[in-house]
Amino acid sequence: MKEFFQENKKIAKTITEVAGLANYLWQKGWAERNAGNISVNLSEMMGDSEFELEHYPMFQLERSYDALANLYFFVTGTGKRMRDLAINPMNNACIIKMNKKGNAYHIISMKKRNLYNFRPTSELPTHLAVHNLLVSTGSKNKAVVHTHPNELVAMTQIPRFQTTEMLNKTLWGMHPEAFVFVPRGVFMVPYILPGSHKIADATIEGFKNGHEVVIWEKHGAFAIGETVSDAFDMIDILSKSAQIWFMAMQSGNEPEGLNDDQLLELKEAFLKK
Ligand SMILES: [Zn+2]
Repeated sequence: MKEFFQENKKIAKTITEVAGLANYLWQKGWAERNAGNISVNLSEMMGDSEFELEHYPMFQLERSYDALANLYFFVTGTGKRMRDLAINPMNNACIIKMNKKGNAYHIISMKKRNLYNFRPTSELPTHLAVHNLLVSTGSKNKAVVHTHPNELVAMTQIPRFQTTEMLNKTLWGMHPEAFVFVPRGVFMVPYILPGSHKIADATIEGFKNGHEVVIWEKHGAFAIGETVSDAFDMIDILSKSAQIWFMAMQSGNEPEGLNDDQLLELKEAFLKK
C-alpha cells in the first residue's frame, strides 16, 4: 500500500527535491556527519487529507506557534545524515502535523515502531519560529534550509566581518550577482548556543527585516525560499563570493571589491522597490 506522501504527487515531488538538495549539500562538503536541517510547509499541498491524530503520538513543544495550528511540515530528523537522506528521505525525515493550539505536533509519516529512535531536528525551535513568521505575514516562502557553508562560516571567524554591514559589503563586492540575487544581503547573528529558543529569536529578527539569508556566527547559514532549491541558491551565490575573497587573499592580495559607486549603481538597477 502506498503512503499518502507517495500518492500525493506534489508532496512526492517536494521530497524528491529535498533529497536532491541533501545530496548537493553533502557533495559540497557543507553537511558533515549530521550537519544541516531542512523544513518545508506542505499544508497547501495536503488537499483534504484527514488524519485520525490519536493514532499518531503527540510531542509537546515548549512554545506555542499560533500561526502554525493544524499545518503540515516536512522536517529532517535529528542526528540524521544528509548523505543518507539523499538516498532514503522518509527514513531520515518526517511529516508532522501541528495540533490545533500550535504547541505540539504529531509525526504522521512513520510507523510507531520506528519512532523510538526518531525525532525532528534539534533546530526545530528556529524552523518553527521562521515558519510562524512566514505564515503570519502571508509570505510565499515555504522552505527553510540550514547548512554549514565552509567559506561563509570561515568569514565569520574574522572579527571585521562580524557585522551585517561589513559582511554584506564584502560579499556583494566580490561579484555583482551576489547583489542581484541577494539584494537585501545577509543578517548576522552573533554566536549563540545552537538548538536554543534564543538563537531562534535572533534569527527571526533577520527575516522580519526582509533578509532571506541569516548567518550564524562561527556556525552556518539559514535561508528561506519558495522551494528548497531557491533557499539553497542564495547560500550558494554568497558562498561563491566568500570563495573569491579567500582565493584573492590566498594569492597574497587583499581583494579590491566593488566600490561604493559601483554598489550604488547595482542598487539603483536591481533593488526591488
Ligand atoms: Zn548547524
